[in-house]
Amino acid sequence: MATYDVDNRSAIITGAGSGIGRAVALELAANGASVVVADLHADTADAVVAEIIAAGGIAVAFAGDSSDPAIAEGAIAVANALAPLKIAVNNAGIGGPAASIGDYSLEGWRHVIEVNLNAVFYGLKFQLPAIAANGGGAVVNMASILGSVGFPMSSAYVTAKHGLLGLTQNAALEYGAQNVRINAVGPGFIHTPLVDANLDAATQDFLATKHALGRMGTPQEVSALVAFLVSDAASFISGSYHLVDGGYTAQ
Ligand code: NAD
Repeated sequence: MATYDVDNRSAIITGAGSGIGRAVALELAANGASVVVADLHADTADAVVAEIIAAGGIAVAFAGDSSDPAIAEGAIAVANALAPLKIAVNNAGIGGPAASIGDYSLEGWRHVIEVNLNAVFYGLKFQLPAIAANGGGAVVNMASILGSVGFPMSSAYVTAKHGLLGLTQNAALEYGAQNVRINAVGPGFIHTPLVDANLDAATQDFLATKHALGRMGTPQEVSALVAFLVSDAASFISGSYHLVDGGYTAQ
């Protein structure tokens, strides 16, 4: 694992109880950040905190729904109590229903937009002023390859992830002068519980072939990019969208 300087600061990571968020939490903690492991599920957040502490790192669990603005606001004080908040990774996300637009339920649409797009706005609304008040820092919003291309039967997910790119650009323009960098990351298909919950084995095998590298990625291959982007090594990178997709969108 490469090492990046994220010492003497805290980091909020949403959806950190599983998959990509868990890998980001472990990697940032291993690199010296004090981590708020935020997740809807207290048990999985607690398990990741235990892993970090066992490895010699610093972390606390913060259970709650990232699409509740009060939870987004509450995470700030929890982070600042550990060390100055300078990093946020807005990663929590859901797959949503698989249906064509004509059959897509209004309830399903609203839920996906609320968790995958609106919740990131709620997070940024409190994170950006707090990070600026601490002298600056860096934020990553977890988009997807589906932030730049479509995917049949997933209109709400695709729309939310495209929306995150615009939100990321606006945040970078509005907070750059206060030394806050905001970027979006676009993973290809990454083997996590989210993928297992939404795609059967035959579909996963087919999708693996859509990547130039012929396979799905691992959570660690995403966390490596996130750790770089939030570290001081990426000090001139802001407002941009960074793919980690094994060549999926090269076709
Ligand atoms: P995952 O299901 O393994 O983990 C997601 C975590 O988010 C879970 O721990 C879940 O409890 C939490 N979560 C869900 N809704 C929440 C909410 N409202 N509030 C707080 N926590 C909540 O999923 P993953 O594959 O690790 O995905 C993480 C992010 O990466 C998502 O935004 C997803 O869209 C994105 N992504 C995943 C892939 C992939 O192929 N796995 C590809 C591109 C982008």
